[in-house]
Amino acid sequence: MKRYVLIIVERAYTELAEEKLYELRREGALCELKVIERKDGEARIDDAITHRPLGSELLIYGAVDWSLMVERKAISEGFSRELIHMCTSLVENCSVFCSQCHAINGVLEERFVCENCCQKLEVSDHYSAYHRAYLAYPIFTIEKGEERDD
Ligand SMILES: [Zn+2]
Repeated sequence: MKRYVLIIVERAYTELAEEKLYELRREGALCELKVIERKDGEARIDDAITHRPLGSELLIYGAVDWSLMVERKAISEGFSRELIHMCTSLVENCSVFCSQCHAINGVLEERFVCENCCQKLEVSDHYSAYHRAYLAYPIFTIEKGEERDD
């Protein structure tokens, strides 16, 4: 089966997303790139993520808060978490502030383990101007099977 990759990109990040697009096409993946302006609002995002083939991967390029919003929508549209990749940190220095021990982590993933206190954390969309970092909150693990699916 062909690999199908949908790339959702916030306007400012188009160049980076296009580089990735060419790379994926060279690897033989079927790709679709949708550029969305922040001011287009959420309806455009809904349009972009619906009606895609089963098993599609989703790449999100954009600012952290925007990307998290797109990810939430994608999950509610039935994308599985494992197939969603966020590329926020490639384009900005994504520092994340651990709410438990106050250490600053450089983070590539939405979920990560604090380098200092080893707490499992999830990046929020709350930006602390003082710490120049996004806040990350502890994940008190609800295992996948137990997640409510409403
Ligand atoms: Zn910590």
